Amino acid sequence: MAVAAADALAAYRELASGCTRCALAKTRTQVVFGSGSPDADLMFVGEAPGFHEDKQGVPFVGAAGQLLGKLLAGIGLGRDDVYIANVLKCRPPGNRDPQPGEIEACESHLFRQIELIRPIVVATLGNFATKLLSGKPAGITRVHGQEQEVVLGSSRVVLYPLFHPAAALYTPRMLDVLEADFRRLPELLHREPAPPPAPAVTRPPAAVEVEPLQLGLF
Ligand code: URA
Repeated sequence: MAVAAADALAAYRELASGCTRCALAKTRTQVVFGSGSPDADLMFVGEAPGFHEDKQGVPFVGAAGQLLGKLLAGIGLGRDDVYIANVLKCRPPGNRDPQPGEIEACESHLFRQIELIRPIVVATLGNFATKLLSGKPAGITRVHGQEQEVVLGSSRVVLYPLFHPAAALYTPRMLDVLEADFRRLPELLHREPAPPPAPAVTRPPAAVEVEPLQLGLF
């Protein structure tokens, strides 16, 4: 990443630390902006900070974070190799679900992070991040493990929905699926980027298309 972009991310973090766009500003201990490498090719987006994240100011430091760390180690990566953020930057009281108004108030923070980090793959953890970044209502059970190219802000990324590690903690079958989906991450990170859409071409006449086949038959 250009130094300018890393500086811009640090400056944006500073700005977001005083955010009062929604009522969560009144109950949070601190804004949990994100952690990891501003240069990361792989970015994870979870739901919202919980109790421990709110206290420490770092995403995914509780039980779900321990599992995320293990899954990362399984593909040869550490937390410092990736960037980790959430849909909401402030803890909802009692860890309740994010509300639509909170997501709307907070989403531009996430889009700006993606724009500055410019990851190759954005792995969404669970329903909230998946629905927000895909812009579609399909739930994680249906779309997990199915990558798709999307444009987020000004960045073209591979969006890769995964089960949330907190859900997988207590459901062994879900953990198996999460592990299997995780194992595809290296391939997605090293995949050739899809070429930009080709300009519209006029289809050649049918006679030209079949000619080589006919010649080959005689
Ligand atoms: N911790 C986070 O930071 N995000 C989650 O979604 C869950 C736990």
